[in-house]
Amino acid sequence: MRIPLIAGNWKMNKSVASAKQFMTAIQGKLPAADQVETAVAAPALFLQTMLEANTDNVLRVAAEACYYEDEGAYTGETSPKALHEMGIPYTIVGHSERRRYFNETDDVINRKVQAVFRNGMTPIVCCDETMGRRESGERIHWVVNQVSAALKGVSAEDAAKIVIAYEPSWAIGSGTTASTDQAEEGCYLIRQTLADIYSDDLANGVRVLYGGSVKPDNIAGIMGRDNVDGVLAGGSSLDESSFIKLANYQN
Ligand code: PEP
Repeated sequence: MRIPLIAGNWKMNKSVASAKQFMTAIQGKLPAADQVETAVAAPALFLQTMLEANTDNVLRVAAEACYYEDEGAYTGETSPKALHEMGIPYTIVGHSERRRYFNETDDVINRKVQAVFRNGMTPIVCCDETMGRRESGERIHWVVNQVSAALKGVSAEDAAKIVIAYEPSWAIGSGTTASTDQAEEGCYLIRQTLADIYSDDLANGVRVLYGGSVKPDNIAGIMGRDNVDGVLAGGSSLDESSFIKLANYQN
């Protein structure tokens, strides 16, 4: 059984004080992790405060990004080794904003995926798709190639733990959510790609998320689709009451 994963991505928002306030507000209000797993990816400089404020220990405090080397002369980067030592279980890798604004290539993303696994964490790998590619029919190759490139050289043992998010860039931050058919189609495509690279069994165990303008009032429809195992929510994960509603989408 694939346990749903409702994950937030704060991007470069909030402060240490407001991150702490969020953590205090959500304690005792999230579903049990063996029913619905919840995570929030936050800037590295908030993580220690968030871990300390996570008194019920239900939310998985996650990172938004990290580097592919464990340590060294890489000014300004975040070490995956240090994240793991802090007790961070997940980090996002390959978000479309990292690809677009920070020139992260498929090769860099693949190195990061390997570094995250090497350090005992799980990557939430994002695959994007532009509206142009959707309209030209190129999206299928694009998504398949991103998944294959991210997983190059990754063992089946590690790949079985991965989380992949289908995040059409035309839906991110735009207020335009993919239809439930589009979300299902993207997540199905990712699962089929995993089956082609590894096996049906492996693909059936991996959680595939949808991301792009998910809100409390549209999450239930998206989560109702067979191949959608969770969501990655940006804007609607910032406010504590909105995140609590996302997490409790089944109620
Ligand atoms: C995201 O940043 O991954 C995202 C899906 O953002 P939003 O929910 O704001 O569209």
